[in-house]
Amino acid sequence: MTVLRVALDLPLHRLFDYTIDSATPADVGLRVRVPFGRGERIGVVVEVSENSDWPLAQIKPAIEILRDIAPLPAEFFALCNFASTYYQAPLGEVIMQGLPVGLKRLDPPLRRQARPTRPTLAARAPELTDEQSAALAAIDLAGGFSAHLLHGVTGSGKTEVYLRLIARALGDGKQVLLLVPEINLTPQLEGRVRARFTEASVVSLHSELAEAARERNWRAAFAGEADIVLGTRLAIFTPLPRLGLIVIDEEHDQSFKQQDGMRYSARDVGVFRAHQGNIPILLGSATPALESWANAQNKRYALLTLKERANPEATLPAVKLLDTRKMALKEGVSEALIAAIKERLARGEQSLVFLNRRGYAPVLACMACGWVSRCTRCAANMVLHLADRRLRCHHCGFEHRVPKACPTCGNQDIHPFGRGTQRLESWLQEEFPEARILRVDRDSVKNRKQWEVMLERIHGGEADILVGTQMLAKGHDFPKLTLVGALGADAALFAADWRAPERLFAQLMQVAGRAGRAELKGEVLIQTQYPDHPLYAALVAHDYPGFAATLLKEREQAGFPPYTFQAMLRAEAPEMADSIAFLKAAADLPVIAGHQNVMIYDPIPMKLSRLASLERGQLLAESPSRPALQAFLPRWREAIEGLRSPSKLRWHIEVDPLEF
Ligand SMILES: [Zn+2]
Ligand SMILES: [Zn+2]
Repeated sequence: MTVLRVALDLPLHRLFDYTIDSATPADVGLRVRVPFGRGERIGVVVEVSENSDWPLAQIKPAIEILRDIAPLPAEFFALCNFASTYYQAPLGEVIMQGLPVGLKRLDPPLRRQARPTRPTLAARAPELTDEQSAALAAIDLAGGFSAHLLHGVTGSGKTEVYLRLIARALGDGKQVLLLVPEINLTPQLEGRVRARFTEASVVSLHSELAEAARERNWRAAFAGEADIVLGTRLAIFTPLPRLGLIVIDEEHDQSFKQQDGMRYSARDVGVFRAHQGNIPILLGSATPALESWANAQNKRYALLTLKERANPEATLPAVKLLDTRKMALKEGVSEALIAAIKERLARGEQSLVFLNRRGYAPVLACMACGWVSRCTRCAANMVLHLADRRLRCHHCGFEHRVPKACPTCGNQDIHPFGRGTQRLESWLQEEFPEARILRVDRDSVKNRKQWEVMLERIHGGEADILVGTQMLAKGHDFPKLTLVGALGADAALFAADWRAPERLFAQLMQVAGRAGRAELKGEVLIQTQYPDHPLYAALVAHDYPGFAATLLKEREQAGFPPYTFQAMLRAEAPEMADSIAFLKAAADLPVIAGHQNVMIYDPIPMKLSRLASLERGQLLAESPSRPALQAFLPRWREAIEGLRSPSKLRWHIEVDPLEF
């Protein structure tokens, strides 16, 4: 009798033993069908053993070891073990979330044959700039592990550096993993990869793929048949037998951090994976995450810089601040911006008005009694969407019809307050009746197809004015776009979240980068009441390094990451008192006394304290030493698991939290 130690997708920090008539160590890494509770589950064999901590008679027999694919390799388990330990996530969850859904189902769907991709004519590679050549020369694909941060201004041709590097890796017979933040927003990149490497097998892995396609692509990657795997964060765990290079584009992007379920950073796991596999990793961005920038400053990453735009005709846009304290505003838009849009219309060029708030207005209110449209399930306002006359909570998705009168006092005169993209769009249409206006946000673009149609319309010159959120900020080239106006940016300057300025700078820099990508010169106008703020001064000067240096100094003085290491314990329950009491108990656990180097703060309600009818609290654990925090967390977690809590209370630990 042999014992299988099996990983199951359960929120428990343990493996499960099953017996089987015969199995060998070669079966480690295979999937297995096992009884669980009253049903069955698919798990993964992590260990084959002769004995168990349980009496053999009490262990249930496994049903069947599945042999339709090769066993998952040792490196996959090593990567999952690292992520499990580092993020305090159950090993079973980590292992199982690395597999496509189809391989976890008891009744696998019928597999269709892979469709052969049409061979097309390979796109010619453009000439490299001196900076691009220097960056490429600095990366040695055969030299083992190295981490590189490619800091390139918008339009400097970071993608071309990726493509050349990928070509070299393919030439060496290696597989390449290329991660992007949101594949649906970057069809241009996928198109360029496929056009350049027509001989190679390119597969994508992201959550919007149909289940069967995702499984097919995963299998091709796992079998070593796919040469290039283009994916979002979930692709980072894909086993790749010939992996020789990892590239992470827009490495600062928050979507690399998974914020629910298993909370991990695909970028950080990527760096570990490159180290483990002894291969290079390239992180690229125009506005690197401060953590990455600090790693480049202290030489843990090699810094590669592209200061010039790749197209010598395209210079960086001129960034100007419009001091709205001294200007008349019409619906929040200054005369200067209106005049600038008029000029573009007259010249047949495109303008983009950036406002990172979708909907018509952020809130509907009654002036008579003070009623505002609050979400009944969250500590947030319901956003007014006039297009379909709905009030919608952007946090929990709850929505209902716009009331005809104030629900509290019956007053029929209720008003929208503040403005979102829909309101801006309709006002611009009144102001410029002859202009063709396109709004681009998550309400107007819900999927990849709509996004591709939208991009085609923009490229085809079917729009004179674009109104949009940060969706428009991602790396797109719009040759006729010469003006970017930014509204409402000040809100993030004084946000309670100390990461807000870093994000605002990145966002404005990215959206500003849309202007003047080709021969036409670009101009960026930012409306602000704080024109003397150092963040804006850095934007005007296109000075990311200066801005990063200032922020890092502030963080060092304040004792924030990357100068300190954090983990957040969060609890949610129907009553805030229960959440806070649980966190208080966690803060008082005796195990804490044994870890002098770790500081535990007081429990507090989260900023969005109520979400989907649950009251949420959090407790910060912090240490100046990463190893000290890592030594503390498993012991703390085990002690927390022993705490009594109300049945409806849920808790989790997030390591390196990004949101507070
Ligand atoms: Zn009222
Ligand atoms: Zn809500």
